[in-house]
Amino acid sequence: DLVPIGRALISVSDKGGLIEFARALAAQGVELISTGGTSIALRAAGLKVRDVSDVTGFPEMMDGRVKTLHPMVHGGLLALRDDDEHLVAMAAHGIEPIDLLVVNLYPFEATVAKGASYDDCIENIDIGGPAMIRAASKNHKFVTVVTDPEDYTALLAEMSANDGATSLKFRTRQAQIAYARTAAYDTAVSTWMAGAIAEEAPRRRSFSGTLAQTLRYGENPHQSAAFYTDGTNRPGVATAKQWQGKELSYNNINDTDAAFELVADLDRANPACVIVKHANPCGVAVGETLAQAYERAFDCDRTSAFGGIIALNQTLDGETAAKIAEIFTEVVIAPDATDEAKAIFAAKKNLRLLTTGALPDATEKALAWRQVSGGFLVQDRDVGQISLADLKVVTKRAPSEAELADMLFAWKVAKHVKSNAIIYVKDGATVGVGAGQMSRLDSTRVAARKSQDMAEVLGLPQPTTVGSVVASDAFFPFADGLLAAAQAGATAIIQPGGSMRDAEVIAAADEAGLAMVFTGMRHFRH
Ligand code: 5GP
Repeated sequence: DLVPIGRALISVSDKGGLIEFARALAAQGVELISTGGTSIALRAAGLKVRDVSDVTGFPEMMDGRVKTLHPMVHGGLLALRDDDEHLVAMAAHGIEPIDLLVVNLYPFEATVAKGASYDDCIENIDIGGPAMIRAASKNHKFVTVVTDPEDYTALLAEMSANDGATSLKFRTRQAQIAYARTAAYDTAVSTWMAGAIAEEAPRRRSFSGTLAQTLRYGENPHQSAAFYTDGTNRPGVATAKQWQGKELSYNNINDTDAAFELVADLDRANPACVIVKHANPCGVAVGETLAQAYERAFDCDRTSAFGGIIALNQTLDGETAAKIAEIFTEVVIAPDATDEAKAIFAAKKNLRLLTTGALPDATEKALAWRQVSGGFLVQDRDVGQISLADLKVVTKRAPSEAELADMLFAWKVAKHVKSNAIIYVKDGATVGVGAGQMSRLDSTRVAARKSQDMAEVLGLPQPTTVGSVVASDAFFPFADGLLAAAQAGATAIIQPGGSMRDAEVIAAADEAGLAMVFTGMRHFRH
């Protein structure tokens, strides 16, 4: 199954590594055919090249839209070398076989990412490149395809191991990679177009990503895993710079994302800190300073915070870094970090520090998807926001200004906690988080019990939930959850409302002297 490479067609937008690579091919006696810009680059380096227009007998035309779309090229890529009829056709039309195709595509994704005009983006949709890649890949029984400069070295190694030929195994793997590339490319075009025509309903869409990193393992050591980027360049774990520490794990990436998205969704007027464990926050707080925000978040649930993931909404400073360094933390992510902070972390070998340059836009519309057996569920990201004006007071007692501020904070946190979510907040800091329970009553109790535990740890006379407000991500179906919150000392409740038993729940709130507001919006998260 070894096929020697005699003739190569090279047509690349990314010309990185091109010259050395082409030189190595030429040294093995490979004839080079090339398109406009690639030919110029190769000739400038002193290499002998045949222009594709010479092969096709047609000039490149229409601003490069039509260069290689010709039977002389596609026949050379697609012809089966062991089929008599194909060989007859080749001879009849003077079609020469092309054994190696080296193409990387017009930089469509990068053009979109830099905010280019509609027409510019359209012009950067490569047509001839994907057509050739797909043709060569289909015919991988005979043709070798390379779509990524990263694979130049592997090809040269393969050729030198096989006397200038490639094995079927190598060609098949390259074809598989090539189809992943053209699929991701077309998906990027479709996604961009959906945005351009403001297509919000996720219908007839395709989803794709580009391999960014293979991971040591998945959620568990017996699962293999990888990280793919979607080309959006959203500030966050996918684009962050890692300053130190070992490679992020699957769970680290997932948790870091949850933490950073939550901190970015909070009011940016104040320094804020989020600590996440197993994709749920175990402490969220604002403070006068970042260090104070961290301490207050830490005090919500010190036990769970051990080995957690910390997200900050401002530049990590030395004071905050020193506080964080007191216990074991897996990852810290922030828009930036001072040199002093970096120096403090440098002593903590296992701590990963990530900086992103910016916070992501929490209101940016996008699609979110998750896998189920046999398919994907696709929905708009939850970018629902409420403000004071949206709140409807339903109890006899109206909430105080301080309660209202805490309610909005608690509501924002609830949006990022797995359902059923119950969040107790006091003075801009969570004091109890109940997450992922199957009953709302259980979430209410779990959070209150954690607060009791923390009171013991901190040596406080009473649980921190006393005098707090509570957010519930969905309505209370019965009064029991609300009564449990009141029993834990909560004074005010924020929830969507809309239960069949709202009247009963409101009456219970009135009787307990609670203030309660309805948001009219639900924030399930699973
Ligand atoms: P060059 O810099 O050599 O002029 O152009 C290289 C680029 O042209 C490659 O990215 C390749 O995918 C693309 N390309 C090759 N043939 C065609 C074609 O027929 N039409 C279009 N639109 N692009 C092509």
